[in-house]
Amino acid sequence: MKKITLGFLMIFGCINLGFSQNIALNTSTKTIKEDNWKGLSPLLEVNDILRYIYSDPLKENYIHTIPAGYPLDKDIHINSFYGSRNHPVHQVAKFHRGIDLKGGTGEKVYATGEGEVVEAGYKSDIGNYVKIKHLYGFESIYGHLSKISVKKGQKVSRRQLLGKVGATGTVTGPHLHYTLKKNNQFIDPFDFLFLDFESEGISFMWQQKGKLA
Ligand SMILES: [Zn+2]
Repeated sequence: MKKITLGFLMIFGCINLGFSQNIALNTSTKTIKEDNWKGLSPLLEVNDILRYIYSDPLKENYIHTIPAGYPLDKDIHINSFYGSRNHPVHQVAKFHRGIDLKGGTGEKVYATGEGEVVEAGYKSDIGNYVKIKHLYGFESIYGHLSKISVKKGQKVSRRQLLGKVGATGTVTGPHLHYTLKKNNQFIDPFDFLFLDFESEGISFMWQQKGKLA
C-alpha cells in the first residue's frame, strides 16, 4: 500500500483537524470511517465510480478496500464475459452474473480488495466459493474453487490468498468465476480487472480511453 507523503499529512492536518481525528492515517491499521466517503456508496455505474475515485485527492485512504485488479497471477484472459449467453452446461439462455477467467486447477486466487469473508462454502452452481464484503457496498465472489484457504469472518487484504482455481459446481472445465456486486446488484467486473490505483500510468490510460473525460 502506498504511503501518504509527509507533506500531504502536514497540509491535511492543518486544514482539517476534525476530520483527521475521525480516521487513522496509519496505513498499518487501516481504520476507516466509511462516512468520510459516503458519496461513493450510492454509485452503481462503473464510470461514476471511477470518476469519483480518481478525482478524490484523498483516495489513498480507501482505495485498498475497492475490489480492483486481477485475482490470478497470469495476464488477463477472459473465457466468458458478463451478460446474456447460452449457458455452456445447461444450453439455455442465461444471464452470466460474473466473468470467467482462464485458469488451471491449483492456480492461486487472490482477494482484489480488503474486506471481510462473509461466506465460504459450496453452492451447486458456483461450487466452492468465497464471498468478500468490502466497504461502500462492494462485494466480490470467487467461484469453482478446488480449495478454500480462508474462513467466514476472516479479514483479508488485497492480494491475500483465498484459495485455488478448480472445477467445482456446474462447469465444463477449470476456471475462475468472478462476480462483483455493488449495493446488492450485480455489476460487470470487466473494467475493475484493469484497475491499478497505485499506478499513475493506468489512471492516464483510462483518461486516454475517454472513460474519465
Ligand atoms: Zn461464470
